[in-house]
Amino acid sequence: MTAQTMEELVSLCKRRGFLFQSNDIYGGIKGLYDYGPMGVEFKNNLKQAWWKSMVYERDDTEGLDASILSSPVVLKHSGHEDTFTDPLVDCRACKSRWRADQLFENNRCPNCKSEDLTEPRPFNLMFKTAIGPVDDGSSFAYLRPETCQQIFTNFKNILDSTSRTVPFGIAQMGKAFRNEITPRNFIFRVREFEQMELEFFVKPGTDDEWHEYWINKRIEWWVNQGIKKENLKKIEVEKNELAHYSKRTVDINYVFPHGEEELEGVANRTDFDLGSHTKNQNDFKITSEVMKNSSSTTKLAVQDLEEKKWYIPYVIEPSAGVDRGVLALLNEAYREENVDNDNKRILLSLKPHLSPIKAAVIPLKKNNEELVNLSKEIKSNLQKLGLGRVVLENSGNIGKNYRRHDEIGTPICLTVDFETLEDKSVTVRDRDTMKQERVSIENLSEYYKKYFN
Ligand code: ATP
Repeated sequence: MTAQTMEELVSLCKRRGFLFQSNDIYGGIKGLYDYGPMGVEFKNNLKQAWWKSMVYERDDTEGLDASILSSPVVLKHSGHEDTFTDPLVDCRACKSRWRADQLFENNRCPNCKSEDLTEPRPFNLMFKTAIGPVDDGSSFAYLRPETCQQIFTNFKNILDSTSRTVPFGIAQMGKAFRNEITPRNFIFRVREFEQMELEFFVKPGTDDEWHEYWINKRIEWWVNQGIKKENLKKIEVEKNELAHYSKRTVDINYVFPHGEEELEGVANRTDFDLGSHTKNQNDFKITSEVMKNSSSTTKLAVQDLEEKKWYIPYVIEPSAGVDRGVLALLNEAYREENVDNDNKRILLSLKPHLSPIKAAVIPLKKNNEELVNLSKEIKSNLQKLGLGRVVLENSGNIGKNYRRHDEIGTPICLTVDFETLEDKSVTVRDRDTMKQERVSIENLSEYYKKYFN
């Protein structure tokens, strides 16, 4: 089962500290959200899982963490200054603004239903900010609209500082900013979000095969995070809808509570980006329509050792949204169950590696010195195993603690009771089955490690 409506997820997220509207106490700002105590753990776990699979578990990738503020020259040559736009229409009646391709009801204003709309005109989605103390417009930067451009501009730095040869990839996670005309559907479309992007550089001619490889690899990864395969759809982006850099893009769509939409895009960006940012473009046979006359001082090319020729690699890009991932996984994990006498329990059946809290240690009686001290010791020992956050719950209400930890997806709760003092064992309760078993404190570390492996 998944959530039935977005409202169920929004309510759980606020109630249990996953997500809050940003600037809430001043009325909030549309399209911005803050991750609360549970949200930040969950999001970090998701990012870690991605990093592990994209960098640590591979032998052909490197990582990067580049700056968010981006030079206009970079975004000129990437094509973003000219083409990173959405079609904007104004409603003359109520003065609201909409994305032309999202007017669902036959060209009527979604707010007041008027048909008195302007013609669509391009609206650039990039945020600008001044650099330096003098704000006279002469020196500005953009907040990056995607994380990958700095991967391209660092291509040579990374090649020169590592021993990589094509095919190889550069992975980066981080914030991206888009001045979306109509942010909506909770954290699905926001103005500040995070991306997890891999740019995988390959020899031209091998690109189609690598593209297929990454599409399948990425679907497999989402399934390993807990998304049912039938809720993921492979969608071929129509030729006339491809981004300016793309030869072919396949979107991995997910059936969100508001409908099926893109979770991740896997694009074949060809030699567009490295070509656009390269010195002396004319020295290369560049296949894509690149921005001509780059002022770059660097040749972003590699040498084919057999043919002794320089060429610009093609790039395959799996680009996923962290926030859309959070939303999809919360939705997949959401369950409502009837337990004893028609009492409802809500639980997040998250995979343990993603759960914000790995285990809660609960002394049966609040503030009982012996029970609390022993619980603290158990908590500290489990925490030292380094598998994620473990918490101590000293409120004395076991039932309430179980409910709370079900709702935030904690896989196990450990209760320390008076018997524990005698038999040196704790009660371990499983989130999904609610089954309880006694485990000796001596074996707890091993038990816990097995649980998470
Ligand atoms: P859409 O068509 O939904 O606007 P896009 O095709 O513009 O998305 P890409 O440029 O391919 O998106 O960005 C890669 C990923 O970044 C997307 O698959 C998505 O997960 C995420 N993303 C893009 N825009 C947003 C946004 N405004 N809010 C949250 N995530 C986003």
